[in-house]
Amino acid sequence: MEKIPVAILGATGSVGQKFIQLLINHPWFEIKELAASETSAGKKYKDVVEWFVSDEIPEQVANLEVKKCEPNLDCKVAFSGLDSSIAGEVETAFAKKGYKVISNSRNHRMDDDVPLLIPEINPDHIELVKKQKYGGGLIVTNPNCSTIGMTLALKPLIDDFGISDINVVTMQAVSGAGNPKKVGLNIDDNVIPWIKGEEEKMEIEPLKIFGTLNNQRIDFNKMNISAQCNRVNVTDGHLEAVQIRLKKKVDKEDIINSWNNFSSEPQKLDLPTAPKKPIHYFDEDDFPQPKIHRNIENGMAAATGRLRPDKFFDFKFVVLSHNTVRGAAGGAILCAELLKAKGYI
Ligand code: NAP
Repeated sequence: MEKIPVAILGATGSVGQKFIQLLINHPWFEIKELAASETSAGKKYKDVVEWFVSDEIPEQVANLEVKKCEPNLDCKVAFSGLDSSIAGEVETAFAKKGYKVISNSRNHRMDDDVPLLIPEINPDHIELVKKQKYGGGLIVTNPNCSTIGMTLALKPLIDDFGISDINVVTMQAVSGAGNPKKVGLNIDDNVIPWIKGEEEKMEIEPLKIFGTLNNQRIDFNKMNISAQCNRVNVTDGHLEAVQIRLKKKVDKEDIINSWNNFSSEPQKLDLPTAPKKPIHYFDEDDFPQPKIHRNIENGMAAATGRLRPDKFFDFKFVVLSHNTVRGAAGGAILCAELLKAKGYI
């Protein structure tokens, strides 16, 4: 099969670098173009990137010229890891020129005609792109990184038992804030109890993700969510403490079975980036931990644990997921694979 040429918009950033790492040997997609801000454009990638996701910049991209984020790139698909100050308008411009845009940025997530897609949860929402007016182009978005981990853990429980209320407290990794060398977080010996816009995203995005597709629109889910988000001194991997109120009386074993038995469309289609098992439950008292479990199934699976009854809700547990893989670049690549498998790319 001839590989599909792709561009990475925001290729120098934290998510952009992860896209490169995950796409370099991808069986369906081939990196053809890298683009970033005007400061980086016109120079070789290796001369402008502060590479920090692995030891060396892959040689296939090191000498590529970084382009401006203008819709004249030699590719079909544009993966976007752009800063949200610019992402919205750039992604629209690319879609209007016929590119298939898969975005990690918040700008288009809540648009009526844009799927907020997690392939294991709401693959049917892809249909929304039929409402888009971009000719051959389209925009599909990936949810916020902490939303992805939490909703993966909730999906089988919502299907099997129903959930009415959720309280979540996050402990989010430093890489979620962008390139750690550039953002200058005061994180050594510290916790920062605020992440701009994060709590609002965690409280609204799941309602769209778990919404029902109805005549090419989404009827939002009605559950209640309260979120508190914190930045902690961990390189990668968001850990989240979740309390849930269920619509049915169940035992701990029912929840564990629900997680263990969960499998969905990406697994059925055997998509290249899909984890074999989307949720891994751990029974040990002190698991899961970012340092030990963030790379489970190449960073594409969520790890759950510490499941126990709760005094105020029904149950509480923790969930861990890799923020730049499952929560960003890997999740977006899985969306693109689903789009390809369903004939949209
Ligand atoms: P980042 O490290 O700050 O990277 C931002 C990228 O955007 C860089 O490549 C930068 O290029 C480019 N850029 C900035 N201003 C631009 C402009 N005016 N024109 C063109 N390109 C411009 O940020 P990040 O952490 O990778 O996040 C990227 C996006 O993904 C954000 O919207 C973020 O909210 C979202 N996201 C991030 C994560 C995560 O875990 N990090 C997870 C989910 C979603 P230069 O280097 O040339 O400035």
